[in-house]
Amino acid sequence: MKIIPLASDSLGTRSMATYIETENINILIDPAVALSPSRFNLPPHPLELKRKEEQLNLIKEKAELSSIIIITHYHYDHHNPEEISLYQNKILLIKDPENFINESQKIRAGYFLEKIKEIPKKIEIADNKEFSMENIKIKFSPPVRHGPKEYLGYVIQILISNEKEKFIFTSDVQGIVDEEQLNFILENPPTILYADGPMTYMLNYRYKKEDLEISLNNIKKIINETDVKTIILDHHLTRDENFKEYLKEILNQNKTKILTAAEYVGKENELLEAKRRELYKEFYYLYK
Ligand SMILES: [Zn+2]
Ligand SMILES: [Zn+2]
Repeated sequence: MKIIPLASDSLGTRSMATYIETENINILIDPAVALSPSRFNLPPHPLELKRKEEQLNLIKEKAELSSIIIITHYHYDHHNPEEISLYQNKILLIKDPENFINESQKIRAGYFLEKIKEIPKKIEIADNKEFSMENIKIKFSPPVRHGPKEYLGYVIQILISNEKEKFIFTSDVQGIVDEEQLNFILENPPTILYADGPMTYMLNYRYKKEDLEISLNNIKKIINETDVKTIILDHHLTRDENFKEYLKEILNQNKTKILTAAEYVGKENELLEAKRRELYKEFYYLYK
């Protein structure tokens, strides 16, 4: 099984878009890319806009090669209602658009599903379900909270497994901050985990110090209680330039590799959103 993050915050945009290649079947998770409309009171820098276009093109390329597309929830960095050709002839496994969902995502889900209804081969609600095909198993968690609070709604976590590998994709859990998010991971011990890391760029504002502590403790628990070899941490975490400062406790162990998505694919971290102020100074000629 090959796990290939296509776009992520460490790769310069808001996304967790991931392409999974298995022997007989390819799967695309959350095929979308977004940018923060305003960070440090600045709009996206031209370099970010360019990166977003490049990554969207890569997502379209991989969508052509995939027979299954998964949508874990209805934020624009996870589903794309404007590029409906992405879903042409695919089996779409989606977060329940009616139950365990907040009001704004319910409206977005309705708009999205109405717009694409004739396009995919099949659309199935995936919450808490299991699918087997072509020597792989795809298992979904029950809906779990989008971070520490309920107001952002719910996401579904995914386990994709064959005989050799067990890959878990958490979607937007903001650091694995609640029991139910953690339980799905401990009950289905992965060999490789791609998790949305703690939201430290909002620390003491929308993300409490206790949330960070719970997150780090839960990640330690996963390292100690499972045989996970690699943990990719990204997305909300890599909106913070100093994210590694907060990870010392989990970086100082030899059992499990902790990487960003960029590091996992062998690239440099490019936290373009976190560096937006610097980008406007350094590359001023791009927008003059
Ligand atoms: Zn989200
Ligand atoms: Zn997200």
